[in-house]
Amino acid sequence: MEKHHTFCRICESLCGLEVVTEGGKVVSVAPDPAHVATEGFSCVKGLRQHEMYQSPDRLKYPLKRRTDGTYERISWEQAISEIGAKVRHLRAEDGPDSVGMYVGTAAGFGVLHPVFAQGFMTGIGSKSMYASATQDCSNKFAVSRYMYGFPFTLPFPDIEHTECLIVVGANPVISKWSFLQVPNPVEKLKQLEKRGAKLYFVDPRKTESAQIAGTHVFIRPGTDVFFYLSFLHELIRQDGADMDRVLKWTEGFEALKILSAKWPAERTELVTGISTGVLREMVTAYCNAKGAALYCSTGVNMGGNGTLAFWIQEAINAISGNLDRKGGTLVGKGIIDFIKFGVKNGVLMRDDRSRIGNFSSVNDAFPGGIMADEILTPGKRQLKALFVTGGNPLITMANSGRLREAFRKLELLVTLDIYQNETSSEAHYVLPCTDPMQRPDLPFIFPLMLGLQMKPYLQATRAIVQKEAEQRDEASIYLELARASGVSLFDSAVAQRFFEFTAAYHSRKKGKKWLEIPQQAFLNGLLRLSGQKSFKTLLKFPHGIKREPHQAGSFVEKRVMTENKKIQLAPETLMTHALKLEDDFNKEKEHSDHFKLITRRAITTHNSWTHNIPRMLAHGRDTNYAYLHPLDMEKLGVQEMELIDVSTEAATIRIQVKALDTLMPKTIAVPHGWGHQHARGLSVANKTRGVNVNLLAKDGPENIDKVSGMAHLTGIPVKIRKADGNLQPTWSGLDSGATSPS
Ligand code: SF4
Repeated sequence: MEKHHTFCRICESLCGLEVVTEGGKVVSVAPDPAHVATEGFSCVKGLRQHEMYQSPDRLKYPLKRRTDGTYERISWEQAISEIGAKVRHLRAEDGPDSVGMYVGTAAGFGVLHPVFAQGFMTGIGSKSMYASATQDCSNKFAVSRYMYGFPFTLPFPDIEHTECLIVVGANPVISKWSFLQVPNPVEKLKQLEKRGAKLYFVDPRKTESAQIAGTHVFIRPGTDVFFYLSFLHELIRQDGADMDRVLKWTEGFEALKILSAKWPAERTELVTGISTGVLREMVTAYCNAKGAALYCSTGVNMGGNGTLAFWIQEAINAISGNLDRKGGTLVGKGIIDFIKFGVKNGVLMRDDRSRIGNFSSVNDAFPGGIMADEILTPGKRQLKALFVTGGNPLITMANSGRLREAFRKLELLVTLDIYQNETSSEAHYVLPCTDPMQRPDLPFIFPLMLGLQMKPYLQATRAIVQKEAEQRDEASIYLELARASGVSLFDSAVAQRFFEFTAAYHSRKKGKKWLEIPQQAFLNGLLRLSGQKSFKTLLKFPHGIKREPHQAGSFVEKRVMTENKKIQLAPETLMTHALKLEDDFNKEKEHSDHFKLITRRAITTHNSWTHNIPRMLAHGRDTNYAYLHPLDMEKLGVQEMELIDVSTEAATIRIQVKALDTLMPKTIAVPHGWGHQHARGLSVANKTRGVNVNLLAKDGPENIDKVSGMAHLTGIPVKIRKADGNLQPTWSGLDSGATSPS
């Protein structure tokens, strides 16, 4: 038996772990009590992750789809050369943009994977990049670029010192904090309340977090932007703007004031359901605090007007003087000043326009919501090949039934993953990759480059277990794919030669059959270039090593990267976009009696990832349910566990219902990430009964946010009726179930 120290790479908490191996297999995972930041915290997903990574379903060899739809095992040489030949052909015949890439969330939890994937696409010269961010967070990147001059300027609440925290559309007890690493959310919320801080949760459901601490305030789904506008209006009315800071560090206050004047709380309470009195009480608490913060997450981001809502939130934190203030919101620093580096080098700052819908790229990626149209619409730059790297868009994206049909029209679909999931089950080539336990790593880009950690620290991990059979790391795969496609990584022949030379040397030394990037050496190079301790030195600190704590006052004077170095409170694009709010408000008023759909997450699931772990599905957890308020169930005439049909213009799903009295009436909550029946290589998950709720959301250029490209996945109006006939949960918009794996 051997004990190792490492960290989890499932969610942003990155919990420190103690892993015991025997005979090259992980036998147990426990929280690391001595970890400098997470101090013995972890969740059930982290403790059972080895069951996901050691499943007999793990991909071990490259697969190729036969003409009859079954799959055969092929050699790496064949896979790389056939894919490379096809990419060469498409690039020559149809142009570089005909080759696209979708980067999933799992890719972001390693350092080298996303860098080499981007390097491959830069080599091809293609702008057809898509990312999972347009499902859940691109609104933040788009707004940050307008307001602060760089998309990765992401202020976070100073949870340790705040006197008032207002959390909108987030449930840290279950989902953890996003864009911020805070271990043990239950304990943190209790501590916050115990030291006298005011805490509010604004949400259509009294979430697990709201049940732990603070005051819960119901809000009608999809109306967050009107709540924020009234908050702003009321804050100005209560003289809550810090005019010294406003005049010194910001621009656009008057325009913002004029905009907010139209949205007094007396008006918006009609659609938000938040009374003027309650809103005023929250604003007063916020204004009276020495340091206060508004914070939001996916409930706001995915709610249709997430971009405008996040903009107003950030404007409130800025004009109240809370931005860059102790107890307010802070802007962290990673191992380099990524904000300055990014602007200087144009990293993630491209201004490409999409062929369909003329969308501007955000973080150098286009909206996933136009991907089906880009594939299905003939013409120049039509998407004909797609690499899906660490993602599963056929579960996670809006209207995935249509996307599936589009994927079937591609001339080349290649997936890089650890399982043959729903998306890989449509691919021409399926490439088996390493899992987090099989690779050395550093914390991913948010903590590493941006310092999005409550307590900044650095940690390095070795690979804990060896790769099996023919699994390979993604960086090495992209290196070989670049060569076979006749291009150079990062469009640099020097870089390509250097990577090939070092990989060849490393492979020879290690007796490897294929080119293998020396990952640890590359990560060490990154650390040394940024003036940090070496990778080997960091390994001597198995519980992590603390970095300088965050400092208030390090941002507004020094790191705002807009042209005039002032925070832009009223960017023209956002002000123009805000003109549509009158229409949206009137629709909300007219349809106030309609049901609205929201998502929900269980403690045992993470997006679509953990449904193949048998123990996670015990005790009736092998499916998702629709949750309704008991009063709504009574009106609909449905009983607990009966089936209902939930419909939009995009699809209908049939699902069992459960009562939930912590839900706002006229709200239906359905957890996402389910619907694995089409996955060939998930022998546990494909027998679950869960339904893919994202089928109900619409895709296409008319149905996504014009500024950020965000999909509208929550706060969607739906129709509900008691189901008749078919007794099984089901869905429309897809063909019949998955065929057996070959
Ligand atoms: S909270 Fe759970 S899933 Fe997230 S990093 Fe920690 S152990 Fe992993």
